[in-house]
Amino acid sequence: MIEYPIPMVPGPTSVPQVILDAMNRDYPSPDLEIEFLDLYNQTEKLLQVLYETKNRMVIHTGEGMIALWGALKSTLLPGDRVLALASGVFGYGIAEMAAAIGAEVKVYGVEYDQTFQDLDAVERIIETFRPKMITAVHCETPSGTLNPLEKIGILKQQYEIPLFYVDAVASLGGAPVKTDEWAIDLCLGGSQKALSAPPLAAFIAVSDSAWRIIKEVGYVGYDALLPFWDAQEKFYFPYTPNWHGVSAIYQAVKLILDEGLEEVFKRHETVADYCRRELQAMGLRLFPAKEAIPSPTVTAVYIPEKFDWKELDRRLREKGLVVGGSYGLLAGKIFRLGHMGSQAKMELVEKALSVIKEVVHST
Ligand SMILES: *Cc1c(COP(=O)(O)O)cnc(C)c1O
Repeated sequence: MIEYPIPMVPGPTSVPQVILDAMNRDYPSPDLEIEFLDLYNQTEKLLQVLYETKNRMVIHTGEGMIALWGALKSTLLPGDRVLALASGVFGYGIAEMAAAIGAEVKVYGVEYDQTFQDLDAVERIIETFRPKMITAVHCETPSGTLNPLEKIGILKQQYEIPLFYVDAVASLGGAPVKTDEWAIDLCLGGSQKALSAPPLAAFIAVSDSAWRIIKEVGYVGYDALLPFWDAQEKFYFPYTPNWHGVSAIYQAVKLILDEGLEEVFKRHETVADYCRRELQAMGLRLFPAKEAIPSPTVTAVYIPEKFDWKELDRRLREKGLVVGGSYGLLAGKIFRLGHMGSQAKMELVEKALSVIKEVVHST
């Protein structure tokens, strides 16, 4: 099987041995053993620290998309108004998902190389449109940007918008996600980005007001949040939980908390700054516009003119480096380095940059 000597894909990220070890045993039935419930409850507590929240967590088997869908379907009814703030593939995608459920969606979009900093226009829309939900993406992984959420949270509170939905899948564990301070009602995370676990779980921090709406809506489905309301109390989950997976998540979050949240965020910032500086020094052009905020978890770079993506990818792989391409409008235009979680390491990024330098400067 192919191995990545220098893994820099922006998810799934490379999984540390301690996390693999946490899964590597023959677990008994999670439906029967109280030991599983204890682990689930403890994992919820660790996730609450990571999310900086008092809100209850839902831990779904699956990966990021089950959280994105489940949180929309569990809270929206046809005709509900949704304001989708979109600056990239996921932001526009969430708008389409909400529309598919029958919501009346207003998209406030900016270019993919921008982030939401000036919210005057957003505030004017909120004043008249009065949405039930505002959606936003924290880290837009395909474009390497990080949208600040604090001011959106202030507007949400000021205009008493019932739901603030945030996709934090690619920032959680690599950048601060202040769920309570930013007034996020549905905060979504996944296992295979900065947590560096395999793609096996998604988490949603659910506020009290979101739980009220979830009960009103009463959505029934595999991805529904409602059954998790009393799943722990009744020790009755809507499907057989993934003990291996929850065990991996427990270990992944514990690794982060043992290192220290501040330390972990600083490590991501340092590595990201270094990566961007060095790429520019090689003559490469970063993707996000100057005024946009780059994400500490992923760097997006224009593919140099002399290569197409396939050729660049082939040349980098020859030297052991595997990076990400991109999607949607950016496919074939940019490539991305995922310095998140286990991959936010200086030695690794130095190796990656030296390969890029060799390839880019070759003739
Ligand atoms: C990876 C990712 C997701 C979830 O997608 P997966 O299917 O789990 O890969 C959602 N949102 C963002 C911003 C992501 O980067």
